[in-house]
Amino acid sequence: MKTKLLLLLFVVSISFGQQRTCGTDAYMEKMLSNPEMKQQYLDLQKQFESELERLTNAQQNRNGNATFSTNATIRIPVAIHYPSVVNSSSATVKNCLRLLAQKQIAILNADYNATNSDVSLYSGYSSLFPGTFVGSMDVSWEIATQNHPSSSGLIDGTLAVTFGTNFLSNADSDSEWAGYCNLVVRNISGGILGYSPLGGYPNAGMTVVIDNNAFGATMTGSPTSCSGYVPGAPYNLGRTLTHELGHFFNLNHTFQGCDGANCATSGDRVCDTPPADQPRYDCNDPENPPAPGPVPGGGVNPPLTTCGFTQLTMNYMDYVQDSCMYMFTVGQATRMKAWYNFISGQLQTNVLANNDFVNNNFSISPNPNKGIFSIQLTEVTDNYTVIIIDALGREIFNGEYNQTTDLAQNIQLDNALSGMYFVTILSKGAQITKKIIIQ
Ligand SMILES: [Zn+2]
Repeated sequence: MKTKLLLLLFVVSISFGQQRTCGTDAYMEKMLSNPEMKQQYLDLQKQFESELERLTNAQQNRNGNATFSTNATIRIPVAIHYPSVVNSSSATVKNCLRLLAQKQIAILNADYNATNSDVSLYSGYSSLFPGTFVGSMDVSWEIATQNHPSSSGLIDGTLAVTFGTNFLSNADSDSEWAGYCNLVVRNISGGILGYSPLGGYPNAGMTVVIDNNAFGATMTGSPTSCSGYVPGAPYNLGRTLTHELGHFFNLNHTFQGCDGANCATSGDRVCDTPPADQPRYDCNDPENPPAPGPVPGGGVNPPLTTCGFTQLTMNYMDYVQDSCMYMFTVGQATRMKAWYNFISGQLQTNVLANNDFVNNNFSISPNPNKGIFSIQLTEVTDNYTVIIIDALGREIFNGEYNQTTDLAQNIQLDNALSGMYFVTILSKGAQITKKIIIQ
């Protein structure tokens, strides 16, 4: 085992920027070298397997579509930490990194709900993978906005994004931030792009760590990137975090080996991911794979077919470049949902945006008015919709807006009659209506 670890560290030290390397295996190897922790880990995993079995049995919807569950969308509170950015940094620097965090969260929400624009690529290859369909976790990742830990100094209504905290000075967890899904963005030595516990526990304040050059993606608008935190190709589409959070929700790599005939207990323990024994690094076409051998930019291409199956290289839990991973399977989504059920009691629920938060950040002026007025939001945690209804319940206006660029809206209601109207703001997890009078 030790030899394997040393070899792994050696390989990653010469490969940064050339091929993906995830530190989760090394992290877990280190953690499980402690006999007590190993026993604890195995006991909890056994309990988890019961939950997984229950969920799998309950799941009826396995007819080949991406729908995973009829349960309500689950909401996961996220806190993001930039320990290397001093808290006295300028507002410009901090705002840029907050935007980058929001960009990354938007990517997560797309990837975990199979609404990413490239998921449709799978239809071109699905005939190679009978029984393997795109999965959706039906989850909402949300940066927390209130009831922050008192030590953080953050006030209600601001995002749970910290700068220069002591986070991770000596460990990969911080009890101050228990109850959150904590993301730490920093320069990881050894060239590893990211790592996570395999099955993370929010009540211990466990973290997922992402390298500062593999977090988020190029932003639309200005600025397009933040100094020192520029995502570097080919890991510049935010998928390192998609991969690492898969580990946090107890997914293993898809290339765990060909051992054993029982897919539920061997390999990655997910039956609809074909077993494979080596990671894939390149963005090749599974139907027309390049010959095994060196990959441009580094690494070696193993044979495409391993363990007697075509490798599901487009899966987020392989090692391919960001632009060619674009799907979880239904089985993986089930496993992550089961992990969520297993740990959901550990997640804080009072830190997410709710009606109070939106109400405090939402104003309309002037009011009364003559049909021309402004809506101002100081902060929302997701894109939002404005709906205006008249006194008879008829919708007379409906607009969708971007959370970062459209916080102020000038609205003009042509030919609106005098009377009372209701302006509703709909955003993730919140809905607030205010009355206006048109004179
Ligand atoms: Zn990994």
